[in-house]
Amino acid sequence: MDPELVASLAQPVTGFAEARPEQPPELAPAPAIKKTRAIVRTKPSRRLEPGDLVCAVCGEGNPPTRNFCSRCGESLADAGTVRLVWWRRIFRRRPKRHPAGTRPGQKGTREHRTWQWKHSLRRVRAAVLLLGVLIGLLYAFYPPFRATVIDNSVALYRKVVPTLDPVRPAVVQADAMMPGHGPNLLVDTYKDTYWAASLAGKKPKLTIRFNDSYLLRSIILHSGASDAFAKDGRPSILRFTYNTGKSENVLPEDSPTAQTIDLKNSTLVTSVTVEVIDVYNGTDPQTVAISELEFFALK
Ligand SMILES: [Zn+2]
Repeated sequence: MDPELVASLAQPVTGFAEARPEQPPELAPAPAIKKTRAIVRTKPSRRLEPGDLVCAVCGEGNPPTRNFCSRCGESLADAGTVRLVWWRRIFRRRPKRHPAGTRPGQKGTREHRTWQWKHSLRRVRAAVLLLGVLIGLLYAFYPPFRATVIDNSVALYRKVVPTLDPVRPAVVQADAMMPGHGPNLLVDTYKDTYWAASLAGKKPKLTIRFNDSYLLRSIILHSGASDAFAKDGRPSILRFTYNTGKSENVLPEDSPTAQTIDLKNSTLVTSVTVEVIDVYNGTDPQTVAISELEFFALK
């Protein structure tokens, strides 16, 4: 070690050492500082029950048997008591009390009745489940049952969602016609041919027969002559009379486009007469023409 370096680093002590004062400096009397706890009012740490004492200082809920707060130690002398809101007081569930000598769930108690109810419900559920499994097995392994189910489902479906099928008339007759425009042209499925009749005599009448009875639901009418719509008259009132004795008036529009008209009194129809009661006049006022008449029935 370098002696010169040691000498330069060592500092000589100068001056006098003073003794520490025996007493702290005197202070003038001051009012006593009241110690306050650093307690913040926070939410209680347990769920408040009716009758609990809520600490006025920290807000902790305390069982009514306590005299001092379990969290902050404050006296509970001026603590508030927890009360239920009025509607909770009304609908409060009273704690169960079992009289001496009884057990929970014993015959005659409410628990027993609840249990009985749940038990019977379980049995019903099991029975329904078993029935379902049986029906499923029957459906899977017994073809006649499956066929019945499918048939009934189809029938129900048709009842709910009716489908209309076209019905082809077997015979169509008319008591009047123009040469070359016979009544068969009404139902020949060709729109460019038409039935035409003179209005000079009595009202023209068509008779349409089916080879079965049908639940007729609607018609599609192609009014007027296909090649000269304005020339002949177009039906404005058609009277449908069914073989059942019922009848109804159908009021077509004066339009060359196809129009669908619903029928109402047409259950179990095997034949229908269609009488031209009135027409929208054509340039030739003494005629009526219809290009096509299609019938639709419930399947
Ligand atoms: Zn407290």
